[in-house]
Amino acid sequence: MSESTVFWSDLRTTPTMTILQKLERLMRAAGFASLDLADKYTALKIHVGEPGNMAYIRPPYVSVVSRLVRELRGKPFLTDANTLYSGRRHNAYDHLRAGYENGFSRDATGCDFIIADGLKGNDFVNMPVVGGKHCSVAMIGSAVAEADAIVTLNHFKGHELTGFGGALKNLGMGCASRAGKQFLHEVSHPNILREKCTGCGVCVKNCAHGAITLDSQRRAVIDHSKCVGCCQCVAVCQFGAARASEGSASRVCSERIAEYTEAILHGKPAFHISFVMNVSPNCDCWANNDAPLVADIGFFASTDPVALDQACVDAVNAAPPINGTALTDKQYSGTGEKFGHVHPDTDWSAGLDHAAGLGLGTRAYRLTKV
Ligand code: SF4
Ligand code: SF4
Repeated sequence: MSESTVFWSDLRTTPTMTILQKLERLMRAAGFASLDLADKYTALKIHVGEPGNMAYIRPPYVSVVSRLVRELRGKPFLTDANTLYSGRRHNAYDHLRAGYENGFSRDATGCDFIIADGLKGNDFVNMPVVGGKHCSVAMIGSAVAEADAIVTLNHFKGHELTGFGGALKNLGMGCASRAGKQFLHEVSHPNILREKCTGCGVCVKNCAHGAITLDSQRRAVIDHSKCVGCCQCVAVCQFGAARASEGSASRVCSERIAEYTEAILHGKPAFHISFVMNVSPNCDCWANNDAPLVADIGFFASTDPVALDQACVDAVNAAPPINGTALTDKQYSGTGEKFGHVHPDTDWSAGLDHAAGLGLGTRAYRLTKV
């Protein structure tokens, strides 16, 4: 594959071209209407945001996508899979309620919200992975596995384990069942830097697996026989004491995510939209979102998820940093790679390389402004 086209729009609007109209124009320019969605169950994969986190994609954007799917005679439904960590999205009952609280109602989105992996995250299909080096099957939530077509709506932002989260992560990690997520995370073994630990106990309260205790000197200690590697402790620690394991874990996790993505997309019509807005340093899974690292940039769309993620990370790296953010905390010089600076134990390029090797797309792209 030589290069793919990634389309993008900035966020300027006029009375005759609203932000929702701009999204529709972008999707049409990127070839959405050429997808064969007739009579196809079309999964709109999104992250509805952990309540308390306000950086997630706003629900009215979904209504544009679901309407365009219906225009093509497809059957759109909104979907996401349950999580591994504590919070409001680790079972279908609470996850649905969290989504509705964040505004993902049928009225707002124009489609129904179906939790991909069932009530407790155990409803999945073993999907074959073609060309995988880490796995030969991916444990994918049934509603995604059985969908006939996939459209992703990706909030592009930082991520404590994979560097950034975009299309590949929204699919590979976001559609995995509970067992699938455990497989993806199992290489991650966060550690505590004792000299930085203040003993605040926030990680203890937030670890859903009871893996962290404070020792007699009020320093956090992780019991790795209980830890599933979800990295919630890394995200909640405000003192830089809980650290993801070194880059090899990030690399392997990102490669596994690419393999899960290959399983999901194999042979299916697909289209991907990334929202490079509210570019917070961490995942939307946490109940808080820190200040954005850069100003809002726009929407990006492509049928190639690898080129799309590459274009988005390039756009963030090219944007001026905002002062008073996680970048400032970490003495960012003002130039160079931002996500690796905020999350120095991560290696996001490995996932893109592996995804390209699996035939999911190419890191080479041509950017076309719409
Ligand atoms: S959140 Fe950080 S500082 Fe607080 S106890 Fe955990 S590791 Fe230590
Ligand atoms: S110790 Fe950290 S990474 Fe391990 S399960 Fe608990 S929150 Fe997740």
